[in-house]
Amino acid sequence: MIDAAKIQDAVTRAHTDNLATTTGANASYIPYLASVDPELFGVCVVTVDGQVFEAGDSRFEFAIESISKVFTMALAMEEVGPEVFHSKVGADPTGLPFNSVMALELHNDLPLSPLVNAGAMSSTSLVSADGPEERWQKILAMQSAFAGRSIQLSDDVNQSEQTTNFHNRAIAWLLYSGGAMYSDPMEACEVYTRQCSTLITAHDLAVMGATLAAGGVNPLTKRRVVAASNVPHLLAEMTMEGLYTRSGDFAYTVGLPGKSGVGGGLLAVAPGVLSIAAFSPPLDPAGNSVRGWAAVAQVANELNCGLYRIADSRGENSSAQ
Ligand code: GLN
Repeated sequence: MIDAAKIQDAVTRAHTDNLATTTGANASYIPYLASVDPELFGVCVVTVDGQVFEAGDSRFEFAIESISKVFTMALAMEEVGPEVFHSKVGADPTGLPFNSVMALELHNDLPLSPLVNAGAMSSTSLVSADGPEERWQKILAMQSAFAGRSIQLSDDVNQSEQTTNFHNRAIAWLLYSGGAMYSDPMEACEVYTRQCSTLITAHDLAVMGATLAAGGVNPLTKRRVVAASNVPHLLAEMTMEGLYTRSGDFAYTVGLPGKSGVGGGLLAVAPGVLSIAAFSPPLDPAGNSVRGWAAVAQVANELNCGLYRIADSRGENSSAQ
C-alpha cells in the first residue's frame, strides 16, 4: 500500500492547487444543479484497506447524476450475467454527448454503452421487479451497499429533474422502438431519473470507487457488493465511456477507469489500490467537473497509479509500499 502521509499530501495539494480554478459552469438544464454553490470543492481518497484521506468539502452532499449508471449497470449485470448484459445494452463508446439522440439514430435505436443516458435507462429497465417501486428500491439498495451507508433520494433534485426530463423521455421511446427497453419506457425513465437524484458526498463516492478497486467488497463494511468477476466489465466500461466524449483524454492523461456526473462528482479507480473522488459543480462542455478532473488527475499522477505506467509504476509503487 502507498504510504499514508504521501496520500494525504497528494489529496491536500490537489485541493489547494486547484482551488483558484474558475473555468467551467454548473449544469443549467436541470434547475437544481444550476443553483448549487460553484465554490464548493472536495477531494477524497479511500484505499482498498479502508483508509480515508480528505480535503475541503468532502462531506457536502451533491446529486449523484450519471455516476449512478455504474451501480445500476452492476445490479443489472449481477442479475442477468455479463454476457446477456453485453448483448442487451452493449459496451462501446458512442463518441457523442451523453444524451445524444443521433447516437441512437446511427445504431438502429440501440444504446451501445450503459454509461450514456440511453444505455443507462436500458440497464434500469433490465433490473427485474414487479414494478417501478421494487426496481427503485433495489437500485437504491445497490447505491447504499457501494457507499456503505443508507443513500437517500433528494426530493428537490428529483422534482427538478422529473419535471424537465423531456429529452430523456424521447430517448426512452426510441429505445423501445429499437427493442432495447425491457420494461415500460416511461417507468424506466422515471426510475432512472430517481436514481440520478440521490445525494452523495465525495467521501461516499470514494468509498463506492474503493469497493470497485477492492474487487467488489466494500472496504469499510467488508460486505461483498458485486461478484468479483463482474468488476472488470464495470471498470472497462468506465474507461470507454465514463467521461463521455472526453473518455479518451482521461485515459490518455490519467490512465484510470473513471466516471463523472453533471452534479459535479468525478471518480477514478486504481484497481487493487485505491479510488480518488472529487466534487466541484462547474463542468466542461462534455459534462465533466473541471476542478474534479484536475484534482483527480493530480492525485493519480502524484501517486503514480495510472494503469498503463508499467515500467514506472513497478519501480515507484514497490518503493512506496
Ligand atoms: N440526470 C442527468 C441526465 O439524465 C444525468 C446526466 C449526467 O450526469 N451526465 O441528463
